[in-house]
Amino acid sequence: MARIYEAEISGWGNYPRVRSRIVEPFTYGEVKDLILKTTIPRGLGRSYADQSVNGGGYVLRMLPLNRFLHFDENTGVLRAEAGVSLEEVLRTFVRRGWFPHVTPGTKYVTLGGMAASDVHGKNHHREGAISEYLTSLTLLTPEGEVLTLTPEDEEFWATVGGMGLTGVILEVGMRLRRIESSYIRYKAVRVKNIDEMLATFDEYDPHYTYSVAWIDCLSSGKDMGRGVVMFGEHATVEELPEKLRRKPLFYVDKLKLRFPFYAPSFLLNDLTMAVFNWLYYTTHPTYEGFVDYERFFYPLDAIDDWNRAYGKRGFIQFQFVVPESETMVRVLEKIVKHGGGSFLAVLKRMGKQRGYLPFGMPGWTLALDFAIKPGLFDFLRPLMREIVKEGGRFYLTKDALMDGAIFRDSYPDFPKWYEIRRKLDPRGVMSSDMSRRLGI
Ligand SMILES: Cc1cc2nc3c(=O)[nH]c(=O)nc-3n(C[C@H](O)[C@H](O)[C@H](O)COP(=O)(O)OP(=O)(O)OC[C@H]3O[C@@H](n4cnc5c(N)ncnc54)[C@H](O)[C@@H]3O)c2cc1C
Repeated sequence: MARIYEAEISGWGNYPRVRSRIVEPFTYGEVKDLILKTTIPRGLGRSYADQSVNGGGYVLRMLPLNRFLHFDENTGVLRAEAGVSLEEVLRTFVRRGWFPHVTPGTKYVTLGGMAASDVHGKNHHREGAISEYLTSLTLLTPEGEVLTLTPEDEEFWATVGGMGLTGVILEVGMRLRRIESSYIRYKAVRVKNIDEMLATFDEYDPHYTYSVAWIDCLSSGKDMGRGVVMFGEHATVEELPEKLRRKPLFYVDKLKLRFPFYAPSFLLNDLTMAVFNWLYYTTHPTYEGFVDYERFFYPLDAIDDWNRAYGKRGFIQFQFVVPESETMVRVLEKIVKHGGGSFLAVLKRMGKQRGYLPFGMPGWTLALDFAIKPGLFDFLRPLMREIVKEGGRFYLTKDALMDGAIFRDSYPDFPKWYEIRRKLDPRGVMSSDMSRRLGI
């Protein structure tokens, strides 16, 4: 029997916190019975704000639906229920020589959540978003129909990146990639400023599948944009040093720390941020070698509940993509000048992305965390409008601030997406705090 209870929930940023009625279904039949009035599916709640919360309505927590259904060793296609987590996929398949084609910066996400956000990784500029590797989606529409969607169907492209608003994804078919080892051939380059950073991306991107940079957004003037650019490639057995060749494939099961409580707000000040940024910069020298995939892809997963470091008021993530690097640099300058920066400022190059609500476009994406403070939104909202005017957009799964106008101006295929959504959900059952904020 489905479990039903009330709780205050939020996204990873702990903002906003909303009281919702949560239901945990154990069978597809129960899911069908439960889509009655306003409902939104939820996976592991790693979207940042109001994407998988639904004040006053139901939240379908999909975690009990977490079985692997089929794996084809020849094609690498895995079929699994939507509540399976990426961690479970890694735990089961890395030892057997398989890895996801696209992974976000945390493994604590579900396959349903990955598809609904059409997540990207450090290889987006070369290999696209996760939708490129999804072979099928089984979608339960709010009208009670079960559809098997493939990339041939327009409903498939409305569901990837559709933020749970076209129905409930019950099953996901996803192609995995062959790997020879659990190691990443890794190169880190410490850079002094943003010009050096962009030049480093240009120099090494052609040689590596993965790239990402961390920016110290407290440094300014001629040092603005100093940081570390990291590149990676799945290592072959032949490339590995003798010592690592003995057991090339393993699941990384590290001991984890836990952030024990919400940090008091006085701890989050310019001094602690400066210390953190300095430490990060000095402990990441230019380096070339081999690291395990966990260190390369999921460094933040080493500390459970790290979101508590931002205190009880929570934080938001401001992630945008713009076509031109000059625009990204101008925005970074404004953020640095405004101060109150972020521990985590991450820069990635992006490429093309299909779908009706794609976040990705050829260009640069910058993601910054901001602790919630008085005046923060007044600073960020005008900046958002500037970014959209320059042809940029904000990532739906991280956003907490867009309004309907900004959203529509930056997602040009929204009308087509909305038409498909209305066809699948004529009564507007699928609804979240985010969809109401955006007027969709
Ligand atoms: C530390 C960290 C790093 C991250 N790094 C990246 C990154 O590098 N790249 C990136 O793209 N994202 C990144 N993310 C965001 C994350 O990958 C997405 O928000 C992802 O969707 C979260 O999955 P989830 O299972 O937690 O989904 P939830 O947060 O629970 O839900 C996200 C959305 O998916 C919908 N949804 C969930 N399950 C279903 C289902 N079964 N059917 C239909 N809709 C469903 C929800 O309604 C909601 O709209 C990061 C998040 C964190 C916390």
